[in-house]
Amino acid sequence: MSLKDLQTVLKDWEAVIGLEVHTELTTLNTKMFCSCPIEFGAEPNTQVCPICLGLPGALPVPNKAAIESIVLAGLATDCDIKKRSMFYRKNYVYADMTKNFQTTQGPIAFCMDGHLDLEVTGEAAKEREQRDGTEVLAAGNGYKARIGITRIHMEEDTGKLVHVGGVDGRITGASHSLVDFNRCGLPLIELVTEPDLRTPEEARLFLQKLRTIYLTLGISDCSMEEGSLRCDGNISLRRRGDKEFGTKTELKNMNSFKNLHDGLAYEICRQAEVLESGGIVRQETRHWEPATKRTTSMRVKETADDYRYFPEPDLAPFDLSDEFIESVRARLPELPEAKKTRFIETYGLSASDAGNLAADAELSTFFDAAAADKTALAKPIANLLLNDVAAHLNAAGLKLAAAPFKPEHIAELAQLVAEDIISSKQAKEVFALMVESGEAPQQIVEAKGMRQVSDAGALEAEILAVLTANPAKVEEYRGGKVGLMGFFVGQVIKATAGQGNPKLINELLQKHLG
Ligand code: ADP
Ligand code: MG
Ligand code: ZN
Repeated sequence: MSLKDLQTVLKDWEAVIGLEVHTELTTLNTKMFCSCPIEFGAEPNTQVCPICLGLPGALPVPNKAAIESIVLAGLATDCDIKKRSMFYRKNYVYADMTKNFQTTQGPIAFCMDGHLDLEVTGEAAKEREQRDGTEVLAAGNGYKARIGITRIHMEEDTGKLVHVGGVDGRITGASHSLVDFNRCGLPLIELVTEPDLRTPEEARLFLQKLRTIYLTLGISDCSMEEGSLRCDGNISLRRRGDKEFGTKTELKNMNSFKNLHDGLAYEICRQAEVLESGGIVRQETRHWEPATKRTTSMRVKETADDYRYFPEPDLAPFDLSDEFIESVRARLPELPEAKKTRFIETYGLSASDAGNLAADAELSTFFDAAAADKTALAKPIANLLLNDVAAHLNAAGLKLAAAPFKPEHIAELAQLVAEDIISSKQAKEVFALMVESGEAPQQIVEAKGMRQVSDAGALEAEILAVLTANPAKVEEYRGGKVGLMGFFVGQVIKATAGQGNPKLINELLQKHLG
């Protein structure tokens, strides 16, 4: 099937997208309704008890810390926190769940009617030409979109099936399947959005923003690879200008931002082709295969009626007190959006640097500590963190907390460059040494005798020596081959054993060659 590209399809068709986001509350100590420990990577079937195995007569007890977490999530996304809600049984039979029902919430969840605001800028804004109902940002700079959150409800996770010999760990081609109940009963929150998203890019931005909020709240490690953050994408098309929604399909368990985006983009193009050739879209669950870049049908979707929901008789309805809700509100940390604004206003960072720092709870706390009493150095500190530090952590597979350097070391390094004591090239060397030894930059600079030569007289002698040694190149340069400047600078820096101030060398060379 050769499909029209997304941009072409979106000229005639408007996509309507709603997300369902499951998040395991991995930072809690115990499961949702029993006191089994939450421990990842444990031997299969060792973190279980009669309650999470659903043995007859076992009685569930709700985990208060899990309810605090979901209330935090609701407050952070402007939801109404419902004082009265209850658990229901969602009945179905599946091998990964011995109870034959999942305990989940009914029509009223702990959190209802929230929203997240997206700022869609740059390239990303191009996926949407039409902007009804959204605020357009300064000309050419994209638009704002408010995405409604229908609800965030609490439920328990199921066990995990391991399909032996299956393709991609799926059941296709498997010889047999094993089941691990350790995951059974893990506290899970599910956020459901209104069908307010209009492009795959908006869906990706929404999920990224939600993830940074959850990380900032500290309620989950939100690992898409390990499945603690999973997203289903619901999608339908309608002709531009139509009011009625089309029939939707659902893409299950998208496990990366890119897969979510690409799967939705493919599905938009597929549905357009079905509709344009006079066919109808079937309401079904589909699976995105990144390797073949297409979606395949998994099953025709059940409706809510099939699950025979009924109130869970073993758990009393909740009656959250104002006191409880306020005590959770008092724990709300500064959220990424507010943090971004503060970074711009207090430290004069660019919107993109501020946004990138604010999106990472650990990095932004580190930044605050490094820049607090060094506001003038905030920009170079942000640069070091977003470039050198981020690259190092990434390459080493390390968390910031495990790194040997402290915020004051990064501030000191930025200061050494700002005061022209070392060049930015030398700063990279100092950083590499600091990462190895954990020593302070000042100490490293002194031990290595790394001071930058910013003495014009000393540099001028080296420059004249380099020019005298390369008369042919000097001729070429003067004849118009100005690209040779890099060669001369390199030679002089080499002559100063890497310690010449490149800015000054450049200036002096211009003078002598001009
Ligand atoms: P279901 O009962 O099929 O699970 P829900 O009404 O619970 O459907 O909605 C599930 C998700 O699908 C929500 O995120 C919602 O916004 C989205 N959704 C509902 N209708 C449509 C539609 N026609 N097109 C795209 N998304 C939709
Ligand atoms: Mg649903
Ligand atoms: Zn248990």
